[in-house]
Amino acid sequence: MSSDSIAVVDLDRCQPDRCNYECQNFCPPNRTGKECITLRGEEADEGDPDQIHISEEICLGESCGICVEKCPFDAIEIINLPNELDEEPVHRYGDNAFSLYGLPTPEPGKVTGILGPNGIGKSTAVHALAGEMTPNLGEFEGEADWESVLDRYRGTELQNYLQKLIDGEVEVARKPQYVDQIPNQFDGEVRQLLERTDERGELDYLVDELSIRPVMDQPIDSVSGGELQRVALAATLARDVDFYFLDEITPYLDISQRMTAARLIREMADDGDRSMLVVEHDLAILDLLADTLHVTYGEPGAYGVVTDPKSVRNGINEYLSGYLDNENMRIRPEEITFEEHAPRAATKGQPLVEYPDMHKSYGEGEFSLDVEGGTIYESEVLGVVGPNGIGKSTLAKMFTGALEPDEGELDTQLDIAYKPQYIEIDQPMRVDAFLSSITDQFGSSYWNTEIAQPLQLEGIMEQNLDDLSGGERQRVAIAACLSEDADLYLLDEPSAHLDVEQRVQATSAIRRYTENHDATAMVIDHDIYMIDLLSDRLMVFDGEPAEHGTARPPQEMRAGMNDFLADLDITFRRDERTGRPRINKPGSQKDREQKRNGEYYYS
Ligand code: ADP
Ligand code: ADP
Ligand code: SF4
Repeated sequence: MSSDSIAVVDLDRCQPDRCNYECQNFCPPNRTGKECITLRGEEADEGDPDQIHISEEICLGESCGICVEKCPFDAIEIINLPNELDEEPVHRYGDNAFSLYGLPTPEPGKVTGILGPNGIGKSTAVHALAGEMTPNLGEFEGEADWESVLDRYRGTELQNYLQKLIDGEVEVARKPQYVDQIPNQFDGEVRQLLERTDERGELDYLVDELSIRPVMDQPIDSVSGGELQRVALAATLARDVDFYFLDEITPYLDISQRMTAARLIREMADDGDRSMLVVEHDLAILDLLADTLHVTYGEPGAYGVVTDPKSVRNGINEYLSGYLDNENMRIRPEEITFEEHAPRAATKGQPLVEYPDMHKSYGEGEFSLDVEGGTIYESEVLGVVGPNGIGKSTLAKMFTGALEPDEGELDTQLDIAYKPQYIEIDQPMRVDAFLSSITDQFGSSYWNTEIAQPLQLEGIMEQNLDDLSGGERQRVAIAACLSEDADLYLLDEPSAHLDVEQRVQATSAIRRYTENHDATAMVIDHDIYMIDLLSDRLMVFDGEPAEHGTARPPQEMRAGMNDFLADLDITFRRDERTGRPRINKPGSQKDREQKRNGEYYYS
């Protein structure tokens, strides 16, 4: 018996009419006559085949795992819970279902951050904290009640919050993770959506700060993802409630928009007794924004643990190091590290393209772009940074030949594999069918190691493209792009909706792919940590978004970061213990000193 292991059966996948109960036939305890894997009996819907149940008391645990191997539909997970986890779950959805350990602690006047993977129970935790669901403390057979939950948390920082919740004194506003879905739920213009939320009389201020005035009279389904993100932020922050939950604030926003969003959330907390809870995977922004931090870990889909609050600095450092000190828990075999000094100019490959000075205008009074000529080399990863609407896609279109420059001539036309910022792959087609239509390498051991594994595609191969979550869709789109045969791989915001772990994995997949194939990648992203981990050199765009942009030639990292961050007026210092870059408080001593020395990043 191993009571410290859990069995999770995904009932959407378990299809006994198509497998003859292989799991049950091979389970060692079953073979000796014990009732380890049994049938659910009357629980199954009428007419449906009888799905399985696994006894966690009898199961031998992860080291056996025979049923996991035997199940043709990947419906079973057997997981040994870490010994260090000595508490009972706060909530378990049912027998052989997901369990959540621990809850985040909203604090009045504070911004509480959550850092960790997707699928680990954040929404479950927020349902509980919003009072929409009563946690059952793992006892899914009886009636759940709030008094028991309060008993459990008596004497902790969560007690006050829970008491208010029980007394009906907590109202919640939340910003959903996937803003792209808002147009499916709401018809009408931006103004109509926002006016319904103006409970504090601060809507005008938010609309101006977030620069959404120009789209106020547009239908919701016509605005871009970046605009929707800011509309959703305004709609949430305009409400007058006690507890605000913001599930990812940065996707599709450029750095100054991210800084603005962070400042507005900060202002709400400072305003008094509002509690702000933010899930965020852009670590530079999370670091800047949060007062305290909960790290989450576990096995997506099986169990999730929310740690007690940590200081933001320690929380992020521990998370990156892969080891949580207080919990005595290793959450990843290796650490994630940053280079403190600009990487030395890498030995360059052959030039892929040498391009001249160019100019492109979309017409009288419309956006125009000046390109300063430069060279892009084979086998390099070129980071591309600059605000939204500054001409990055316009330049990409000139490289592909889809747009002709008005001045300057590009004699080579490059074959470009392009992953757009907004991914529209909504065909009712399975992921495996879609990817195998792109490359005949699909399923080869090389393709599996280089692409499927780092992008965690195994678990979603059989799903339909239109059922994927935003993060899953992103991973499929990156895989599709890298699977093409091309001279240049151009990825626009691959970090969007990926958690930190997945960002690091995607980064190394892109790097490894370019190195092994003498290919070149240009990666547009607004997550500074990702750009730092990813790039050999940097291409900086500056100017006035939507009016005029200039593309500077690719340059080495130090000079590139300095140009880019000087334009934004942001400096980074290094965390003393880990060397991790951290945004300086504007006007702080370090900020002023670094600006004087012209060292914005690798100081
Ligand atoms: P996150 O917000 O971190 O992505 P969720 O809290 O939405 O995660 O879900 C965590 C896990 O709980 C998922 O694996 C999900 O399938 C499972 N889950 C969510 N709701 C239910 C439910 N009503 N019954 C059973 N399992 C559920
Ligand atoms: P980025 O990729 O940096 O976000 P883009 O190159 O997509 O910027 O766009 C730069 C500016 O050009 C934006 O203001 C955009 O609205 C405008 N623009 C893009 N395509 C066209 C077009 N076909 N006609 C007129 N304006 C355009
Ligand atoms: Fe049986 Fe547990 Fe082994 Fe699965 S892991 S075959 S349920 S003993």
